Amino acid sequence: MTSKKQNADFLHVGEKLLAWYGLHGRDLPFRQTRDPYKIWICEIIFQQTRIEQGLQHYRNFIARFPNVQTLAAAPTDEVLLYWKGLGYYSRALNLHKAAQQILEQHKGEFPQNYDEILALKGVGKYTAAAISSICFGAHIPAVDGNFYRVLSRVFADGFDISSSSAFGYFSSLALRMMPEGKGGTFNEAMMDLGSAICRPRNPLCIDCPLNKECLAFQTGKVQDYPVKTKKQKVQDFTLSYYFVTADEKFLIRQRGEDDIWKKLYEFPNTTPEELKKYITTENKSLHKLTHRNLTIHIYKVELPETTILTELAQKENFIVSTLAEAAMKSFPKPLENYLNDLGDYF
Ligand code: SF4
Repeated sequence: MTSKKQNADFLHVGEKLLAWYGLHGRDLPFRQTRDPYKIWICEIIFQQTRIEQGLQHYRNFIARFPNVQTLAAAPTDEVLLYWKGLGYYSRALNLHKAAQQILEQHKGEFPQNYDEILALKGVGKYTAAAISSICFGAHIPAVDGNFYRVLSRVFADGFDISSSSAFGYFSSLALRMMPEGKGGTFNEAMMDLGSAICRPRNPLCIDCPLNKECLAFQTGKVQDYPVKTKKQKVQDFTLSYYFVTADEKFLIRQRGEDDIWKKLYEFPNTTPEELKKYITTENKSLHKLTHRNLTIHIYKVELPETTILTELAQKENFIVSTLAEAAMKSFPKPLENYLNDLGDYF
């Protein structure tokens, strides 16, 4: 059972965090708004993208899709195009579907309640907590890797962050620190502290508002926390593509909804045996994806006549594309790099 004294200590840490945030919180464009649509878009963008990298994307996305209605009505390809450069395109597909879900199930009004927000496509507990606390005053901690790291260090807590109960455990710790009526600001403060000060490597403990309370810092054991025992297995896999081209045109197709790179465009994975004699170069590259090491071979097949290209496109249902047309579509990063590197090829 927690004593009143301990609870007061927890709250004291929370209050100090808020005081620091009041003075040092980052002045970001989405901090000026409580519009749940905009907070949602920014939470999804910045889940896997650093703030500095994603800010211009956020501005462009909001300028083109300023509300649920415009996003829901947009063609999928255009939504993906505005996501270009951010990677993890399934986030964009989920945003698109969730916008349509809001139109159908909530008459276009962004839901206000945590459970209803959580039911939106692609929204997890962290995002639902962030939106409901920042926009609607919910008293729910938005627990993510930042929370795990900061709380593990402040309390020198060896709870394994890779365990399935870590989310519940750190949520209850955070809840005790969260001052009443300040849920949204507390969550934003924790996000800023975790990304700007209590960084995974080289935390800036000297500048940290919690350094007097932080047990890991006070005992010189910052690098021992957080504790993580399970390592995610990394799988190796290989993909082959054929960049089949003639007369400055080449073949592409849109991927389905399975596996990685949903709805993105790609080159053919195979080419007929009789065309392999036209292979002129092979490009090999290595890519580290989340939990996968991917080797990609791209064979350039330079056909002597455009008719062979168009016949193949008809037979196999490929699209014949120019570079300019491809630039309006979204490709997985390795293929986008390949297209960018074509340079003076044509
Ligand atoms: S003192 Fe250092 S380790 Fe402790 S919370 Fe602050 S930045 Fe993190």
